[in-house]
Amino acid sequence: MSEPVFTQVALPYAQDALQPIISSDTVAFHYGKHLQAYINNLNAALPGSGFEGRSLEDIVRNAQGGLFNNAGQVLNHTLYFLQFKAAGAPGAPSGALADAINRDFGSFDAFKAEFEKKGAGLFGSGWVWLSKTPDGRLEISQEPNAGNPVCRGNKPLLTFDVWEHAYYLDYQNRRPAHLSALWEIIDWDVIAARYQE
Ligand code: MN
Repeated sequence: MSEPVFTQVALPYAQDALQPIISSDTVAFHYGKHLQAYINNLNAALPGSGFEGRSLEDIVRNAQGGLFNNAGQVLNHTLYFLQFKAAGAPGAPSGALADAINRDFGSFDAFKAEFEKKGAGLFGSGWVWLSKTPDGRLEISQEPNAGNPVCRGNKPLLTFDVWEHAYYLDYQNRRPAHLSALWEIIDWDVIAARYQE
């Protein structure tokens, strides 16, 4: 039996480190069960698909149907789980990223308000993204289901998962309350590194 092609990323924090913003139980299910299932489904769908040996981002940009859905969810959740840090000391963007946020949204507070509004207003399941366009502008977008702004040639920087599985154990139907709390655990060094890449 050959090794699986795509595997879980290791979390850079303990399972309970995001509490009380995201509970240990939610991380256990969301990372341990939901993301693992997307990885397993992606690996199962690869043989014979014509996408064997291609990078995850390449598959997301070019595949359709179930292969796109599972590859998209693996990429989305990988970016999502790697953008957090332990709760306790909320940060803020600095340097070139802060300048770009002020330039394109007016202020950090105005950016956060627009991001939360787009997340709360996304009908059904999906993701709200901050991404960098090929000409260097910042853009907030709603992406349904497994969508990712890489499909439009953008560089994904930050994302909030608005599928109910991301928040229902902790917040039930209160999606806006979940979204407004997430800022406390964003690791802006990670977002800045993606912006600079
Ligand atoms: Mn999810």
